Amino acid sequence: MKFISTRGQTPPLGFSDAVATGLAPDGGLFLPEQLPDLSRDLGRFEKLSYPELCFEFLRIFATDIPPDELRAIVNASYTHFSDPAIAPLKRLGKNLHVLELFHGPTLAFKDFALQLLGNLYERQCRVRHESINVLGATSGDTGAAAIHGLLEKPRTAIFILYPDGRVSPLQERQMACTGADNVFALAVDGTFDDAQNALKEILGDQPFRLRHRLSAVNSINLARILPQCVYYLHAWLRLPAAERGNVEFVVPTGNFGNVLAGWILQKMGVPIAGFKVATNQNDILYRLFTTGEYRMGPVHPSLAPSMDIQVASNFERFIYYTVGRDAAKVREVMQTFKTTGAYRFENFNRDTFSASHCTDGEISGIIGRVYREHRYIVDPHTACAFKDLNPARVSVVLATASPAKFPDTIKAAIGVEPTHPSLEALKSRAVVKHRLKADPAAIKAFITAHAV
Ligand SMILES: *Cc1c(COP(=O)(O)O)cnc(C)c1O
Repeated sequence: MKFISTRGQTPPLGFSDAVATGLAPDGGLFLPEQLPDLSRDLGRFEKLSYPELCFEFLRIFATDIPPDELRAIVNASYTHFSDPAIAPLKRLGKNLHVLELFHGPTLAFKDFALQLLGNLYERQCRVRHESINVLGATSGDTGAAAIHGLLEKPRTAIFILYPDGRVSPLQERQMACTGADNVFALAVDGTFDDAQNALKEILGDQPFRLRHRLSAVNSINLARILPQCVYYLHAWLRLPAAERGNVEFVVPTGNFGNVLAGWILQKMGVPIAGFKVATNQNDILYRLFTTGEYRMGPVHPSLAPSMDIQVASNFERFIYYTVGRDAAKVREVMQTFKTTGAYRFENFNRDTFSASHCTDGEISGIIGRVYREHRYIVDPHTACAFKDLNPARVSVVLATASPAKFPDTIKAAIGVEPTHPSLEALKSRAVVKHRLKADPAAIKAFITAHAV
């Protein structure tokens, strides 16, 4: 299988090269050249465990990795999950399920892709006899998950930029208290978008990128998307047959990577009725799906910080399909958006998407209501997904983080402070972070001094 760029000006690459490259050289994002039809495989998939299903799914795409090696990578990637089901599906009520995606090492859904990505990088370094320097920007959970995917792996270093003071103290500890000497937590002045813009500029410097063998680990990497398709499939296969055709996945959304994975699976012939994009008060995607206009606004820090973005970096992949796979049109949309901060789609096709948005006040109210009605504690990101559930559908809410990562918000809402042993252990460890300006030159100097 080859992977093409949404902007059409990069020659197709194999899986490992597309993963190693991250952002395509033409500025676009990689997508599979074709999406195979899985509808006839669903019966065969039903009996598989999570890692077996993941292997069967990824082997369709990672055709340049020998199957035995791919199987070993997949198995290793899900050993650090604390729940035997990996992604347990829990019923909260009639027509309401929660898909718990927070049983990995950093207690958020990003572990699903980043544990795997860490093992893919390790293989790449071994096969090519090379070292690799991984660079990412995070609004909270990505950085922690990326770091835990690469912890102590030989011939790798990881540099994670995050907005200083705008990730939760526990999220920061997950990044800055590992004690691993291949991990650099870089606390940058400004918002997540400032950090991400600095990252984009650094990655756009081709000579610098090649000199340090840099790879991007933010939410645009192809290997961030494909492994996430698997938990939608696993959950769908575990629904009662009578519910499967009417299911809507409700997804707390920021950069659009999580929900995009589900939608891609739907395009591969899995009969999912729809997707609901649940945003916090940073609602560029809510406005898009309700008005057809994609318009940037300022970022307002919220109780759900991993969704505090205004430019959803994976959205370009959706645009590619929605404009009929016309790469020239994608370039035009992205250029207009870049120069004017907005794009209005004529006859916007929202496909099977709907959307909701949620203020901080509503997040607290929902945490309280879900606790009272179901004796179930949701984290502030997951809470956004409980807003305006569609009564005509079977809703599967994706629980993207453990409530224990956000103890203050939960305690304020319900008077109970959730805890988790892995987080308690972090509290006694030293925080090692490096404060930098959101200035590409300063960040490059730091990388040059510490790269492997
Ligand atoms: C990253 C994250 C999100 C947003 O996911 P996207 O793929 O960026 O849309 C939602 N909730 C939590 C807890 C996250 O860490």
